[in-house]
Parts: sequence; C-alpha cells; structure tokens
Amino acid sequence: MNSPMLLSIVVPIYSEEKVIPEFYRRTKNVLAELGNRFDHEILFIDDGSRDGSAVLLKELSGHDPQVKVVSFSRNFGHQFAITAGLDYARGDVLVIIDGDLQDPPEVIPEMLHKWEEGNKVVFGIREKRRGENPFKLITAKVFYRLIRILSDIRIPMDAGDFRLLDRRVVETLRTLREENRYLRGLVSWAGFAQVGIPYQRDRRYAGKTKFTLKKMIRFAFDGILSFSDKPLKISAYLGFLITLVSFVMALRVLIGKIRHPDMLVSGWTSLILAVLFIGGIQMISLGILGLYLGRQYREVKKRPLYVVAETTGFDDASGGEKPESVDP
Ligand code: UDP
Ligand code: MG
Repeated sequence: MNSPMLLSIVVPIYSEEKVIPEFYRRTKNVLAELGNRFDHEILFIDDGSRDGSAVLLKELSGHDPQVKVVSFSRNFGHQFAITAGLDYARGDVLVIIDGDLQDPPEVIPEMLHKWEEGNKVVFGIREKRRGENPFKLITAKVFYRLIRILSDIRIPMDAGDFRLLDRRVVETLRTLREENRYLRGLVSWAGFAQVGIPYQRDRRYAGKTKFTLKKMIRFAFDGILSFSDKPLKISAYLGFLITLVSFVMALRVLIGKIRHPDMLVSGWTSLILAVLFIGGIQMISLGILGLYLGRQYREVKKRPLYVVAETTGFDDASGGEKPESVDP
C-alpha cells in the first residue's frame, strides 16, 4: 500500500479564543473520517492575537502532536498569516480555512476528492453567505465585479481564501514574495488546473469580524492595484479625451472672437467649471499615480513579510525553522 499523503490544514487566527475549541473538534471529526488515506497536520498561525488564543493553541499542541503553531510577533494581517502557513506547512496538499467556522471543515473531503481527480487548486465558491450584514454583501459584490472589470487576470467571482492547494502550487506561490498580497490573485496567476465547488458560508461561530471597513478598503485596493495597471491607463485616456474636447472648445471660442471681435466678456461660469473640472481630474490622476508609487516604495524595501516570535509543536530537526528559505 502507498504511504498516506500528508494533508496540512492552514488556519489564520486573530483573537478567536471562543471559536478555537469548536473549530478543533469539528475539523478533527472531519479528518478522522478520512481514515488512513491521509496523515494530517493542523497549522495554526497566531497573527498576534490579543486574547487567550495563544495559550489555547499551545495547549492543543501539547495534547495533539498533529497541531502546530506559528506565532507572529504582532498582527500582520490575514493574507500574511496565510503566507506563513504556506511557508511552514509540509503537506503534499494544503487546505486554507478561516478559524471562525465560516468555512465549514465538512467541505474538505469533497475538495480532496476533486484534488484526487487531478485538480491542483480547488476553491470554495460562496453560494450563500449567512449572517453577513447587507453592507458587507453589497460591498463584496461590487468589489468582485470591479476587480473583474479592472484586473488583467481572471479571479474567480465570489471565491474567498477557503481553498485546497497542491504542493506544486504552494511552491509556486512561495516564490512570489510581493508585499501587496492578494493571494487569490496570485493563485490565479500561478495557473494549473483549477476548479471551484460551491459551499454555504456560515455565520461566524462566535466573536466579531476582524475586518474593519478600513482593512476592507485597503484589501480591495491591494486586489485591484496589484493585478492591474488599468487605473493608470484610464487616467491617461481621460487626459487625451479632455485635451481633444478642449481643442474643439478653443476652436469655437476663436471663431466666435473672429466673427464678433467687439463682443463683451462673458462665459465666467463656463470658465470656472472648466478650471474646477480639469483640476479635479488632475488631482485624481496624480492620486492614482501616487497609489502605484507608494506600493512600489513598499516593495523596494524588501522587508520580510512577517516576523515569527515562536513556533510550537514542530518536532523535527528544523525545530520549525522556515523550510528551505525562498527569499529572493
Ligand atoms: N484573521 C487574521 N488576521 C487578521 C484578521 C483576521 O489572522 O488581521 C483571521 C481571523 O481570525 C479568521 C480569518 O482570518 O480566522 C478571517 O477573518 P474574519 O472572520 O475576521 O474576516 P471575515 O470572515 O469577516 O471576512
Ligand atoms: Mg469570518
């Protein structure tokens, strides 16, 4: 018989002490049902939690050798926690799942099934989203559509970070160290056979969402600006268009002046409107330029993507050292 495959479950955690025990129970049940086809490890990334999560995770790891914990030195954000998960997981196949039980672990066997059929990426498509407020639903819808219009690569609609990744995809992703991280886009960029499966996104088991409006807007900008330079092109096109229009207007004014040389000064309103309009467009264009420049500024500094304070439960010689560094 073939030796079993190793399945890594990667779970970003930011202050989820109320959910962790239930998450662990449900996930373990699902993994037990897989029988001896898969060995598994559950890799929690503690993203600078401010509650008892860290203690709880260490306890779990003490009881269960399959639980491993990577603790960040502070809160770096969801996308960075997942990145660390990709770096530290050893599995032949990985599943990234939120720790608040919005992504039901019961979907994992179906994902594995699709993987065994030869797919390298299996992403969950949120069919129903229970317990989200209407504002979040609308902003999410608008965002997914906007990114589809603006970005150069196809990012699947309504897919989150709940997904299965084959080792080969993980290795590809690990070579992409850009700081403006939008992993769903990077996964699409990586290519390979990808397939989606619909699932019902549950309400949060306990606690509150960690995504403030500010974080959501920043995330949306990351998504759009990292995968598209269309905003830059649009501002350039707008510039051309306005120049063209102003040329036509200039002709009109000149012809008017030639025909009626002694006409009284008029047109103050249109003058002011034109000045304001062009001023606005210029500021927007500069702003867009600035957004790209700012991102570039962050990238060139080449800071590490996250800082690990401590690892727990890694028992092999590496002691949880980042497996063969992929720093560029
Ligand atoms: N999370 C994280 N770091 C953060 C914010 C969130 O690791 O800075 C984790 C969080 O604990 C949860 C997952 O990422 O397991 C999704 O976060 P959340 O449920 O707050 O986001 P939402 O589902 O509301 O979009
Ligand atoms: Mg959530």
